[in-house]
Amino acid sequence: MSTFDVRTLGCQMNKHDSERIAGMLLARGMTPVPTGEVADVVVFNTCCVRENADERLYGQVSSLSGIRRERGTVIAVGGCIGQRDGETLLRTLPQIDVVFGTHNLAHLPALLDAAAGSPGPVVEVDDPSEGDFTSELPSEREHPWHAWVPIAVGCNNFCTYCIVPYVRGRERSRTLEDIVSEVRRLAADGVVEVTLLGQNVNSYGRDLYGTPRFAELLRAVAAAGVERVRFTTSHPKDLSDETIRAMAETPQVCRHLHLPVQSGSDRILKAMNRHYTQESYLALVERLYVSMPDLALTTDVIVGFPGETDADFEETMNTVKAARYDAAFTFIYSPRAGTPAASMTDQVPRELTQPRFDRLVTEIQALALAKNVPLIGTVQRVLLEGPSKRDPRVLTGRTGGNKVVHVPLPAGVAPDQLAGMLVDIRIDDAQTWFCMGTLNSEA
Ligand code: SAM
Ligand code: SF4
Repeated sequence: MSTFDVRTLGCQMNKHDSERIAGMLLARGMTPVPTGEVADVVVFNTCCVRENADERLYGQVSSLSGIRRERGTVIAVGGCIGQRDGETLLRTLPQIDVVFGTHNLAHLPALLDAAAGSPGPVVEVDDPSEGDFTSELPSEREHPWHAWVPIAVGCNNFCTYCIVPYVRGRERSRTLEDIVSEVRRLAADGVVEVTLLGQNVNSYGRDLYGTPRFAELLRAVAAAGVERVRFTTSHPKDLSDETIRAMAETPQVCRHLHLPVQSGSDRILKAMNRHYTQESYLALVERLYVSMPDLALTTDVIVGFPGETDADFEETMNTVKAARYDAAFTFIYSPRAGTPAASMTDQVPRELTQPRFDRLVTEIQALALAKNVPLIGTVQRVLLEGPSKRDPRVLTGRTGGNKVVHVPLPAGVAPDQLAGMLVDIRIDDAQTWFCMGTLNSEA
């Protein structure tokens, strides 16, 4: 076993777990597979929040069947689908050699060894509410200048559509000191930007300290030596005025907030168990814009939750317009077995959800453009990420508001030379999902 390939099918929490899987495999002397080749070990790190990750996993594992027979490629599946399905995954995908749960990630190298000496597959799936916070594993960061920093795992909210509390367990926070010392180490290692991760960052610390301490954590992390701090995800019910103040007063904290609304209908929000109303959500949004007029606000919206009527959907549209979002992840509700919403009787048929979804996407695009156009002529601080995927003569980066900015590669500069640098860029043009600019020294 000498080469590995970690394939992430899922959210940011999974991306970070994938960096830790890569870190552990590198530490045992394996190397990442060269592009275009099939690795000796393929690890799927999965998400089961929506149906499409299941479908992608089945497709990708099946397509490896032939090469597994010929070359003995080892297939491991972990993350949320591993946690949810455990051994039963082997009934549908008998090609899998190792199944591991969300809390068994640190054992992956040992499980791969066990599989090598075992005639059959190896499965290890523990109760996700038990065990250690495995944050101190080695990590192979995708970019040297950015790090994901988990501050809490699990979730106590039990939104009725969501599988996360079942596969990630109850919320457990890391200590403030532990997080801050990791960020100090990362800053010393050249990291410019950290993203603090948790399913509900605003309740950070409640389990450890009896009361949430996210605002304090934000200020402490910002003082630990990195230039930019991001965080995700915020639950509207727990976003305190103290946190808004900490954001507004701390220059390192990016002026971007991801604040999932899910629906604008009070009836549906209640059925979702979200603990806020349209009115209280929009009041919170106004407080945010008053404190930070340049805030970029993004959200998640679910269309077609069981029982959603046309009138409920109109409330979602009204809320989306009033909140003036910069971007949104939009989802058609998909029933997740074992969640309360999956057994609600009034599931909404696709012929109703699809047109609603299409209208929502069109509205979000219009709002995104409306938020980008006023940036024309302004100078934005942009963290450059490297050459654009489409054109190596163009550099791509992100503003504090998480907006993608493209700039022409300056003459005499290699495409990767400026990656990880914070530069001033004058915005010359704005489209729905990106802006074009000029390096300010040239402007
Ligand atoms: N903890 C975060 C939160 O509260 O927003 C993120 C949870 S989840 C990983 C990300 C998004 O997936 C949710 O905000 C929700 O919009 C969407 N989602 C979760 N379950 C879903 C389902 N059953 N069907 C469609 N979308 C779903
Ligand atoms: Fe899922 Fe709700 Fe927890 Fe987010 S807050 S992870 S949507 S249960």
